[in-house]
Amino acid sequence: MKKIYFALLFLLTSLACMAQGLPAVPDSVVPIRLPMDTLDTQDKYTRIILFDDHTWNYLDLGHPKIDTASLFDQYWTTTEMHAYRNYPASQIPDEIDLLLADSLNNYCAPILGPVYSGYKVRHGSQHTGVDIPLSTGDTIVAAFDGVVRYVGTTKQTGGYGNLVVIRHSNGLETYYGHLSKTLCEPNDPVKAGDVIGLGGSTGRSTGPHLHFETRYKGQTFDPDRVIDFQTGALRDSILTLHKHYFSIYSHYGQTDTESKAASDRIVYSVRSGDTLSGIAKKYGTTVSAICKLNNISSKKTLRIGEKLIVR
Ligand SMILES: [Zn+2]
Repeated sequence: MKKIYFALLFLLTSLACMAQGLPAVPDSVVPIRLPMDTLDTQDKYTRIILFDDHTWNYLDLGHPKIDTASLFDQYWTTTEMHAYRNYPASQIPDEIDLLLADSLNNYCAPILGPVYSGYKVRHGSQHTGVDIPLSTGDTIVAAFDGVVRYVGTTKQTGGYGNLVVIRHSNGLETYYGHLSKTLCEPNDPVKAGDVIGLGGSTGRSTGPHLHFETRYKGQTFDPDRVIDFQTGALRDSILTLHKHYFSIYSHYGQTDTESKAASDRIVYSVRSGDTLSGIAKKYGTTVSAICKLNNISSKKTLRIGEKLIVR
């Protein structure tokens, strides 16, 4: 395998020389540094190559690529909030690597602040993003390079309020909700850090905050897996997405085993006349176990349609 790296390196050096109009093999005697060894880095697509003159260089093993040719063409709509509504989730591989940012693809934190409310089931309904508090009028910027896919008003989006959706060249879509004002148009190309709107409290919101979602082929996953909102740093330049991340019960901080187990949970939708003890009996569990799983009191009044984890 090492031989391949060295051959590749030699080829690249030769090409670089040719591009600069230099002979690949210089006439005069120039010391040639020889590759001695390679080292792993945190990034599985990058290695460090060590030379005999004690210098080193990064060696790019070819980063994960996505089909950008079809990305802004297939399942593209500027009139519907969710473009991948009919995309079969079964086509998503169990595991996929996405290159979030590199020298060509930029990143910028959309906003900084503590995650006030995370990716989880909240009051019996799915909260498919993170909420970051802000002051109305604060600027909101695009997280990655891409193209604005959808801009909607509260009337069109309901709970999201004024919403911007951007599709990124890394394959993700990001949603920016509850904006007081949107400052971009569908089909606008954007760079990470471009202002796309102002923060607010439109839609289903109890105070000014940004509702931020990350989606892959329409499937939501915890944005905390991508961004450390306190510092604004990317968690990693490569995101390895597992299918079980798309469960509302899977979140950042879990081990993969915990995430997998959480995604296998059975969720019950409350019907008219249901009681906690009735549901517990039906699923062979106890009221206290259900209460613990859902973080609710046993005296809670159940709402029809409310989702409860039963196992
Ligand atoms: Zn939210």
